[in-house]
Amino acid sequence: MIDITKLLCGETSSGDAIRYGRAGAGVESRDHSVSQRVPKSAAERRPVTVWNITRRCNLRCVHCYTDSRNIRYPDELTTAEGKAFLADLAEFEVPAVLFSGGEPLVRRDLFELVSHAAGLGLRPTLSTNGTLIDKKTAARIKETGFTYVGISLDGIGEVNDCFRGKKGAFELAMRGFRNLVELGQRVGLRLTLTRQNYQDLEKIFDFIEEEEIDRACFYHLVYSGRGASIAESDLTHGQSRSALEVIMRRTEDFHRRGLKKNILTVDNHVDGIYLLRHLEQRNSPRAAKVRELMEWNRGGTYSSGVGIADVDFFGEVHPDQFWMHYSFGNVRKRKFSEIWTDTSDPLMTGLKNRPAMIRGRCRLCRYFQLCGGAMRVRADRVYNDPFGPDPACYLTDEEIGLSEEMKAELTAAGEVYPVPEGLTG
Ligand code: SF4
Repeated sequence: MIDITKLLCGETSSGDAIRYGRAGAGVESRDHSVSQRVPKSAAERRPVTVWNITRRCNLRCVHCYTDSRNIRYPDELTTAEGKAFLADLAEFEVPAVLFSGGEPLVRRDLFELVSHAAGLGLRPTLSTNGTLIDKKTAARIKETGFTYVGISLDGIGEVNDCFRGKKGAFELAMRGFRNLVELGQRVGLRLTLTRQNYQDLEKIFDFIEEEEIDRACFYHLVYSGRGASIAESDLTHGQSRSALEVIMRRTEDFHRRGLKKNILTVDNHVDGIYLLRHLEQRNSPRAAKVRELMEWNRGGTYSSGVGIADVDFFGEVHPDQFWMHYSFGNVRKRKFSEIWTDTSDPLMTGLKNRPAMIRGRCRLCRYFQLCGGAMRVRADRVYNDPFGPDPACYLTDEEIGLSEEMKAELTAAGEVYPVPEGLTG
């Protein structure tokens, strides 16, 4: 996650310690109560763990990474198996568990499992399409102890409904959002950027202001599940740059006018580099601080396989939620903590040792120490090589410092990875 508000405007948010360490969280070393929870280095982070608690969903979204439908999927983890898994996560001291799906609210024992998680000292968060959150459900969510609820939208009104495969989904999601806000539940919006909605970004920011939405996360598309079949819907590199320009300008505008909002982008660490370059080109005094925070975080270097994990409906463990085509093992057979620390799997070893494995333009990029080569799963999907460059990197060769000699070196080493046609331009 790239915290645009934090990096660009210097505002603090609750995720600062995990994302940027002590300096980022403003934690003094004498503040032991807080500093004990701040990892010493990004490499030592325990993974924020996504648990796809069910594959079933009441909607049928175009880019669903789990290819979910409204049917019963047999053999999902039982309540007892889920509780044992959560106990292991608590013992392993993961910083947060994200209950996701499918749509997690269709699972009947969701609240029982979340209460159990909270009782074990875990920080449960919820990722939902929001359409099932009537007043009663909102009250249960609040009581159960979710630390955060993220509601997915893909645009305003009909644009959203078209993506979500249901007329009225937008109004239902907003009803859910308002019901939660009314109870004081911490809640935010999640929007996946695509070619079909990025032109509406200005309108989306107006909407964030009108609806007094405190937090919005803009996700880049990752080619997985039904999202894999619409790779042509991902933003071109030029469109990604335009989107970032809008996101940064509107975030700064909120800050200037004293509107306290947390704006983040997700699943493309290149956004952080783009933001840093933006500050450096303007000789902003914030640039040095941003570089320091990014040096601690190191982008994709410590994300999937290190600081992010996914456990699916059936208990399979993946490097992240978009990597369901690869499993490290199953929590029914071995504890998650054992699977996660077992580096006998070549992909696990590689992900935990990314700088030595990276190939192509990322290997020679002047920003690799800050960006870490962004999303490995996109490289895996497009090039069938988890350590190739991220095809969604929208920085030019010149911007990343790739000289003609370096390009010749990559050619000689067989490390040329052409960007798919649909993403150029
Ligand atoms: S080339 Fe690779 S390391 Fe450099 S900014 Fe792009 S994705 Fe990041």
